Amino acid sequence: MSLHVARELHNYVGGRFVPPQSGVFIEDVSPATGRVLSQVPRSGAADVHAAVRSARDAFESNWRWTPPLERAALLDRAADLLERHLDTLAAMESEDTGKPIALARAIDIPRAVHNFRFFAGAIRHDRTDCHEMAGALNYTIRRPLGVVALISPWNLPLYLLSWKVAPALACGNTVVAKPSELTPLTANALAEILHEVGLPDGVFNLVHGLGPEAGAALVSHPEVAAVSFTGGTATGASVAAAAAPSFKKLSLELGGKNPTVVFADADLEAAAQGAATAGFRNQGQICLCGSRVLVERDVIGPFTEALVERVNALKVGDPADPSTDLGALVSLAHRDKVEGYLKLAVEEGGTILCGGDRPRLPAPLDQGAFLRPAVIGGLPSTCRTATEEIFGPVVTVHPFDSEAEALAQANDVRYGLSASVWTRDLSRAHRFSAALETGMVWVNTWMMRDLRVPFGGMKDSGVGREGGAHSLEFFSEARNICVKL
Ligand code: NDP
Repeated sequence: MSLHVARELHNYVGGRFVPPQSGVFIEDVSPATGRVLSQVPRSGAADVHAAVRSARDAFESNWRWTPPLERAALLDRAADLLERHLDTLAAMESEDTGKPIALARAIDIPRAVHNFRFFAGAIRHDRTDCHEMAGALNYTIRRPLGVVALISPWNLPLYLLSWKVAPALACGNTVVAKPSELTPLTANALAEILHEVGLPDGVFNLVHGLGPEAGAALVSHPEVAAVSFTGGTATGASVAAAAAPSFKKLSLELGGKNPTVVFADADLEAAAQGAATAGFRNQGQICLCGSRVLVERDVIGPFTEALVERVNALKVGDPADPSTDLGALVSLAHRDKVEGYLKLAVEEGGTILCGGDRPRLPAPLDQGAFLRPAVIGGLPSTCRTATEEIFGPVVTVHPFDSEAEALAQANDVRYGLSASVWTRDLSRAHRFSAALETGMVWVNTWMMRDLRVPFGGMKDSGVGREGGAHSLEFFSEARNICVKL
């Protein structure tokens, strides 16, 4: 098979690529050049209903009865095809999102391959519990849920979609996926790949469109048993409200405003490098990005200098150039939002220590949503810039005087997704990590991921956990059978 970007994308329903019933399309635009890449279906409730129906039929007639080993073999084949097309998929993802091609090649697409291989292995090796009691034996069986809705954002399109699709299919569910309409290309390619590997018709369905239209229709559809959503906190709240009346199972992976905490005893060079990577990878558009850097006052001067030096060295420009560190933000509208926060930062009394302006780039990149990465000092850690999710290349730096103050500052936000702590004191590392109100903590590193570990947030960063056994639990119903002996 050859993967390419069609001038007009279609939905994938019941094993066929079909246009939206309304015949209406939206433009998919490259954020780096403004070039129109494709037309994307603007699907509505009728398209969603057709997809859910086809998923329901495939679930009942076929997929729920397919043995786990056969499901695993299909997932492995999908992983092989994704890997074979890695370069094409990376180029597609880079053009659609504006992210550097090097990042898409090194992280986005390999991780999608890994997601499929990992959950193929996980379902092969899965087991369930048995609890003996006096006079009886309990054993647990796990059953698929039925049709599951998978809603994914634009920042890591294939990476995050495959993180949901692979465990959902491994557990025997059928899927209706709704990617962000800003970045639909690799979801479409995934549909072609799953078609090619011989996944039965209707097991995976893809409906493109706008969140409040196709997304909302999917979440509230009465025949959808569960919703796995990754996106912003405000959208997550409306998804939860729409899913609640029919008691759908719900997993919400939402926003973050993650602290990078640097103690004076840390390896400051490593911490500065870690903070630069955590702050600006993917133009700061990763839910895990460390956007508030809390630094022990004794070392804030040299640390900030080292951080600014590294950030100034990052190359902003053509995403297709393999040496580029930061490409374009996802859209001009998103850059406007980020620039609005830079203005707010100055109003709040902050000093922009580097970046925050638009780089001068040759045509056609002069049409793109580029922004130089910004480090801001002089702001209170409680101000809006330092506590609201910006989701762009903006990092604020704040001093603290004691471990207790660092903890209070780190926890004083509505979000609780992740944190990165830099110290050579092992006792403090354990103590401080345990007291942080975040779902994940990295010590002396950032975003090192093992797919077996629980992934998810506390507070307004989400509900539920994904990863390894947690994903298998979410995408299945555990049932207990008690046999009197
Ligand atoms: P959004 O919340 O705007 O959108 C996420 C997805 O939901 C998109 O597919 C969107 O479609 C869809 N959607 C929007 N409205 C509705 C609705 N009413 N019902 C159902 N679906 C809807 O997030 P972004 O795409 O802007 O992504 C950025 C956000 O995602 C950030 O806040 C970031 O922190 C978070 N995120 C969280 C992660 C985590 O694991 N915790 C990982 C990555 C990102 P459309 O695009 O058409 O609006």
